[in-house]
Amino acid sequence: MSLLEVAGVGPADVSRRTVLRGVGGGVALLALGAAAASPPWSQLQQRMTGRLYVKGSSGYAAVSRGYNPRFDSILPSAVARCVSDADVSACVRFASSNGVAFTVRSGGHALTGWSTSTGLVIDTTLISRVQVAAGSATVGAGARLIDVYQGVSSAGLALPGGTCGSVGISGLTMGGGIGVLTRPWGLTCDQLTAATVVFADGSVKQVSASRWPGLFWALRGGGGGSFGVVTSLTFSLRPAPTFQVFSLPYPMTAAPKVVAGFQSFLPTADPRLGCQLTFRATPSTGRTTVAVTGTWIGPASALGPQLDALVARIGVKPTSRSITSRGYMATMLDEAQCTSYSTCRLSPAGSIPRVPSAGASTMVYSPLSSGGIAKLVEQVQAGLKVPKATWTGCSVVGLGGAVRATSTTDSAFGHRNALMMLHYLARWSTSTPSLDPTPFDGYVRGFRAAMAPFCGTGAYVNYLDRAIPDYGNAYWPGTYPRLQATKAKVDPTNLFRFPQSVTA
Ligand SMILES: Cc1cc2nc3c(=O)[nH]c(=O)nc-3n(C[C@H](O)[C@H](O)[C@H](O)COP(=O)(O)OP(=O)(O)OC[C@H]3O[C@@H](n4cnc5c(N)ncnc54)[C@H](O)[C@@H]3O)c2cc1C
Repeated sequence: MSLLEVAGVGPADVSRRTVLRGVGGGVALLALGAAAASPPWSQLQQRMTGRLYVKGSSGYAAVSRGYNPRFDSILPSAVARCVSDADVSACVRFASSNGVAFTVRSGGHALTGWSTSTGLVIDTTLISRVQVAAGSATVGAGARLIDVYQGVSSAGLALPGGTCGSVGISGLTMGGGIGVLTRPWGLTCDQLTAATVVFADGSVKQVSASRWPGLFWALRGGGGGSFGVVTSLTFSLRPAPTFQVFSLPYPMTAAPKVVAGFQSFLPTADPRLGCQLTFRATPSTGRTTVAVTGTWIGPASALGPQLDALVARIGVKPTSRSITSRGYMATMLDEAQCTSYSTCRLSPAGSIPRVPSAGASTMVYSPLSSGGIAKLVEQVQAGLKVPKATWTGCSVVGLGGAVRATSTTDSAFGHRNALMMLHYLARWSTSTPSLDPTPFDGYVRGFRAAMAPFCGTGAYVNYLDRAIPDYGNAYWPGTYPRLQATKAKVDPTNLFRFPQSVTA
């Protein structure tokens, strides 16, 4: 039986159809008056080389979901597994001319589930080749971080990325990209030199500093989903470093001093040092923990004095001090909590679980006052009382270094001068993905709200948070007006949209 027989679809009159936003940020196609008619999916399949999985067809279940199982109940009408720019172009033209609501998906890790919708999902997963030549890598939009790391490290080269190996390079790059090499080398988006983009009219364009410079600026920090579909990204690479990976655990009683010392140390820290504080609360054990962790890419012997300076600022000795020397790929696997490259993919194909979670963030520009530190520690402790959470917590990620050294006129990333980022998290069991998320969302949003009097409401666009009303200024302070002007130029009919997209 062919896909189209399974789908049982044919040409339909779409002229009376309208697109309405539905619950959960998804979108729904509704017919005016009568029952909704199905879009002419067969026409789209005929124009594609890749496969179109219409809801109910064989194989649909395996391709319909993003990373976070809390959104598994949002079922797309169809998922287009594109294999080329031409496929993506066919999808965009089809959606536009038939009034079909759509979203674009690459790694599927959007915290709000906004790369899934009840309309068409334009999926780039199969456009994932990693080609490395002459110090640069051209990467298909659907590549996952671990595949990019593997590709570039095979040539002895490296790209700053993020932690989890299954995150998509596309979403990560367009929102910025924060990881262990951020302070030494900058954001992932700072390494981007060119991209291929399918525009709203279906045309395929090469974008760089010299071709479509406004869009090139916007693709570096402006977030995914607002301007077009990126199908490939080209990055400049550097020789892979050797990392000294360190961990300094502290007793929770020292937490206020740890935060105070960490934030006063950051502006003076050598940019070759990547560092963060990790607070974690485990309701089942009633335990909270804190540790300073990080990486150093300078000479191994020069890390000791750095850590001594940090510990002196904190004024309390850590309970232990571990330092391990690792290569680039080994460090990336370790960050992703993977034991090998071949298993470092999403379950069931690999060992990375699809964990239901809630998240939010705050960008912090000045050191927290003692009141702000006390509030942070209080909120960490409150995480012990989130019912059914496997763990909750906050990472205090050190910024500065190369992030600060780049101007906001160079890219749309608006938080260049932030001192650190607070990343709030609540996770629950993989065996109960459909638990009511309200308490978990409530915890991370409550944490963010509690910190606002001390550090404002700026947020990281890669940690999308539907509860932020003034999202333009929160995600892109100072750069939002230029993003809006770019949007007006490249997508004047607002074809690419979602609840927190850039609007002209
Ligand atoms: C477990 C986990 C770990 C994470 N770790 C980090 C980290 O260490 N550092 C960090 O900076 N961030 C991290 N993030 C956040 C992550 O960077 C963002 O969620 C990012 O948007 C994910 O990209 P994606 O391609 O996987 O997501 P998707 O959900 O596929 O896409 C994200 C957004 O971009 C749009 N989009 C996707 N593909 C395209 C495309 N090809 N063209 C145009 N628009 C597109 C989507 O419509 C959506 O709006 C993490 C998230 C999770 C869930």
